[in-house]
Amino acid sequence: MEEIYLIGNWKMNMLPADVLAYFDKFLINLRKYINTKKEKRDIKIKTLDAVKTIFAVPYIDMFYANLYANEEKRIEIAAQNVFHIDEGSYTGEVSPLMLKSIDIKYSIIGHSERRKMGETSKDIFQKANALLKHNIVPIICIGESKDEEEKKKTKEVLKKQIKEIMENINDKNSMQKIIFAYEPLWAIGTGKHCSKDKANENILYIKEVLKEEGIENPKVLYGGSVNAENAREYIETKNIDGLLVGGASLKHTEFLKIYVEIIKVLNKE
Ligand code: PEP
Repeated sequence: MEEIYLIGNWKMNMLPADVLAYFDKFLINLRKYINTKKEKRDIKIKTLDAVKTIFAVPYIDMFYANLYANEEKRIEIAAQNVFHIDEGSYTGEVSPLMLKSIDIKYSIIGHSERRKMGETSKDIFQKANALLKHNIVPIICIGESKDEEEKKKTKEVLKKQIKEIMENINDKNSMQKIIFAYEPLWAIGTGKHCSKDKANENILYIKEVLKEEGIENPKVLYGGSVNAENAREYIETKNIDGLLVGGASLKHTEFLKIYVEIIKVLNKE
């Protein structure tokens, strides 16, 4: 069974005290849901194992979030960003070595909110190389603006974004691990999600370009105003390997509903 990723991007939200409250409730409800399914013999372990549930949390929350992840193996913790050098005089930065030291296995890079602050393709491939060196999976965000979409330049923009990064990834073996997230800028935090057909078409295209760049079995997620109502349609769509969820991941009840929608699709309910 193919893996489906459910990644919650908390952005710059959640104080450590909120993390404790969130995970206490989220994990109780998650376990209740899973146990009920198991009691009714209504689910296979391999279905549960197929869902990779990951929370991309602010650095300040990582310590607490990790306590829960260590206790509940069904969730993992990611960074939302990283620096490209392991140590040195870089005030305010956090390195891949530091993430590795607390067993963080994923980091988002190239999120459009960071690109807006000046992050370039060069920054992104440097970060990707630095993460891969430590066996941390880069989750690289790409996507077109509203203007580019209206001018029918989506594919051109996506290809350029991918090539600028992938042509500079050093280790051709470890690059197989990279996950991409297609996040049209106009869909992020706007409530205007991309139609499933458009998302599917663009993700299929992204996969073709990634294959040209040497990724044999590319994993590409969709992100942009995903919620419990629309999650299912993306997961049912052939080319989409999971969801990157911003706003809707901040409410543990909503995020769990999205998880349940994924399980329902995998469980053919
Ligand atoms: C995101 O932050 O990556 C995102 C997709 O946000 P939202 O779900 O709120 O659109």
